[in-house]
Amino acid sequence: MIELAQLIRHAPGLRKRVRKLRPVKPSKATEAWYRVELLQLVDQLDRIARAELLPLLQTPAVDRVARAEISTSFQVPRLLERIAQLARSFGGLQAQADRMAAQVASRALGDVDKRLSDGIRRSTKVDVTGLLARSERINATVQAAAKANVDLITSIPVQHFQRLAVKVEKGFAQGMRSAQLAKLVQEQTGVTKSRAKLIARDQIGKMNSDFSRVRQQDLGITHYIWRTAQDERVRDEHADLDGRTFAWSDPPSEGHPGMPIQCRCIAEPVFNLDPS
Ligand SMILES: [Zn+2]
Repeated sequence: MIELAQLIRHAPGLRKRVRKLRPVKPSKATEAWYRVELLQLVDQLDRIARAELLPLLQTPAVDRVARAEISTSFQVPRLLERIAQLARSFGGLQAQADRMAAQVASRALGDVDKRLSDGIRRSTKVDVTGLLARSERINATVQAAAKANVDLITSIPVQHFQRLAVKVEKGFAQGMRSAQLAKLVQEQTGVTKSRAKLIARDQIGKMNSDFSRVRQQDLGITHYIWRTAQDERVRDEHADLDGRTFAWSDPPSEGHPGMPIQCRCIAEPVFNLDPS
């Protein structure tokens, strides 16, 4: 692959020795798209849980005591069994997860390519769009990211129903009445929604970091400056790294910016135009 430095050196009339580029930030729009997709999945789980589980506890024409007995002796095992079945039936989720993960990885790569080439064009007037072909390395990185997201997506319903089963069992052991089941379902939906949002935010950050690294290395950009989000939420370890230069081939112990969980730091590309 032709490296950026060569291109710039051979292009006449350009500002020479450009050393820094605008960092590539994760796309808010892609994060929002992914969040909506995942939340739709959680809504689906919520509807299923309500439709399938709540009627199991509606046993009309029995008094409270009898109903409590039915709950513990007959309904709870049936309920737990149904929850286990529901979790298993989400094996059918695979195709949905494959599609969603492939789409999010491809969008994240498109974002990185657009932002990186815009940044390079702005500071060097060189158009690298044509250089950003699907190299073997970027394909492998995109595939690995899609795979990680398939695993996360498919874990959502499994974890949702597992947690719900634990709550239901514990609730009944503590004498919970059937009417409270609806509330438990609702609570678990809230917990799963938070997890879905975290996955969307964190995965977009990780893909941005990973794809930026590979694209920059492919262009011959070997180093970056660590940049934090510059606010009070930056963790101390990352504040210490702020402004320091690292090689893509030799990250600090924290990993590259954006890779640690919930890390919002970004890499400002640096490249050396001095012929060596
Ligand atoms: Zn950070």
